[in-house]
Amino acid sequence: MNPYRLVLKISQDEIQKRIHALATQIRNDYRGKDLLLVGVLKGAFIFLADLVRSLDLPVEVDFIRIASYGASTASSGGITLSKDLECTIDGRDVLVVEDIVDTGVTMQWLMAHLECRHPQSVKICALIDKYERRTVQVPVHYIGFRIPSGFVVGYGLDFAEKYRGLQGIYEVVFDTVEGSHAGQL
Ligand code: 5GP
Repeated sequence: MNPYRLVLKISQDEIQKRIHALATQIRNDYRGKDLLLVGVLKGAFIFLADLVRSLDLPVEVDFIRIASYGASTASSGGITLSKDLECTIDGRDVLVVEDIVDTGVTMQWLMAHLECRHPQSVKICALIDKYERRTVQVPVHYIGFRIPSGFVVGYGLDFAEKYRGLQGIYEVVFDTVEGSHAGQL
């Protein structure tokens, strides 16, 4: 593998301030409702942990894990659940907490999957919206940060299972003679 550098994109301080603002917005929208936060493993685990502590609402938390097979394409045929919810969502307000919406394929599949179970509502809260890479339309109701593209790690996000524990969010930049290949990961 080519050598690479991690370049700080979003500091710990910026993340915490943004989560505080997101939590205020979510609290105002869901006050008095029976809110279930669904964390998408593994990447969203730190984001969810910080968000739920900022929310100051009596929410329930559950997790789901998605397995994607093959390259990400516009087809949802390669997506399945490797861990399902443990609670029922019939008639409930559900907020999916995701790390990154990139092409949108994963979230489009998950929304369809959850809507079959007749929740009262399902919305998405994503730490990062990689808007330039979108290939399918999916509504992202709460967005932490918008970045055009690039592969990022830290704050729960991995590169081959490394770097999840970094406090900030970093872009992986490959050093090659031709230049950066970070967007190709
Ligand atoms: P999508 O189906 O939207 O193309 O892909 C979303 C998933 O791809 C995310 O949940 C995440 O697991 C992974 N992903 C997309 N971009 C990145 C990135 O920059 N860094 C990391 N660590 N994972 C990413």
